[in-house]
Amino acid sequence: MDKYHSPQVDVAVRLNTNESPLPVPPEWITDVRNAVDEVAWNRYPDRSALALRQAIANRHGVSADNVFVANGSNEVLQTLLLTYAGAGRTVATFEPTYQMHAHLARISGATVVSGQRDSDFELQESEIRRVLDTAQPEVVFLCSPNNPTGRLEPRRNIELVVANAPGLVVIDEAYAEFSDWSALELVTEHSNVVVTRTFSKTWSLAALRLGYAIAPTRMVEELNTVVMPYHLDALKQIAGERALRYVEQMQSRVAGIVQERGRIAGRLGELGIDTWPSGANFILFRPTSAASSGSESVWQKLLNTGILVRDCSTWAGLDGCLRVTVGTPAENDLFLKALSWAVGKGE
Ligand SMILES: *Cc1c(COP(=O)(O)O)cnc(C)c1O
Repeated sequence: MDKYHSPQVDVAVRLNTNESPLPVPPEWITDVRNAVDEVAWNRYPDRSALALRQAIANRHGVSADNVFVANGSNEVLQTLLLTYAGAGRTVATFEPTYQMHAHLARISGATVVSGQRDSDFELQESEIRRVLDTAQPEVVFLCSPNNPTGRLEPRRNIELVVANAPGLVVIDEAYAEFSDWSALELVTEHSNVVVTRTFSKTWSLAALRLGYAIAPTRMVEELNTVVMPYHLDALKQIAGERALRYVEQMQSRVAGIVQERGRIAGRLGELGIDTWPSGANFILFRPTSAASSGSESVWQKLLNTGILVRDCSTWAGLDGCLRVTVGTPAENDLFLKALSWAVGKGE
């Protein structure tokens, strides 16, 4: 199997893993520092992580019984697959999408069936029907906004999948706050829908490793049967719960990033570079071969100037594509300037 690889290179401007470029509020750091004294370190943590789950539930207007928490949304996804996939079962994805969905499905022992998006990375109704009809997957993944394309999945597609899937539908919403629609309202007690979220992007807390799912009560119970007991340490539970007290600060960071996303997209357009509409904190773009000059790749030229973006050019369906995370305004300026030179349009 291929392992997850995203180079961790020590460069000045890191725009390759969709983290927030902005720090958490300093008040939160004080909260966490104080929390270290509150923890009974000789005791196991609250196995049900109730205070954290209740805070997440309040934010989304659901019950704590609808919230499953884990160490990053990757552990949420893994637990979903250990619970509902595995040997003899089928998991469907629509490529290109987040590689961990297929990867974790295979690790669970499941067979992965990949549907394909069209050349603009949109999902056609006929493809949804074809995949669901022929594969009858126990689990279907959607990712909205989709990583690495940035595209928001239209509501009609999500509803079509939910209406026709024979099993579970997982909607990975790692980037939901950067767009204006969420599938959360489709999660009801009798639905087959789970929405996953993470603290890694919007909450500026990639280092914390915290993610969650909003799901029907019966599924949360099943996930808790499968996951390791005491998997979420005591400090993390408090740190996550405290983070949710700074919603306004989060929203203002997100608004700034969305604004910068628009500025970058506009400039890429001026440079004649293909991009796709993004509902996330990154932009997929394809410098055409005519626009790039010299033998070195645009990715390498950017790296030479200390700017790291994600090279997706060898991924299936993403020929020549790069993905840039929206950084601070200063980082974005450096990126845009270096990119202009890399495609032979520097001034
Ligand atoms: C970044 C990302 C995640 C986040 O995973 P964590 O384990 O919570 O850091 C999940 N899904 C997608 C699509 C992502 O891009």
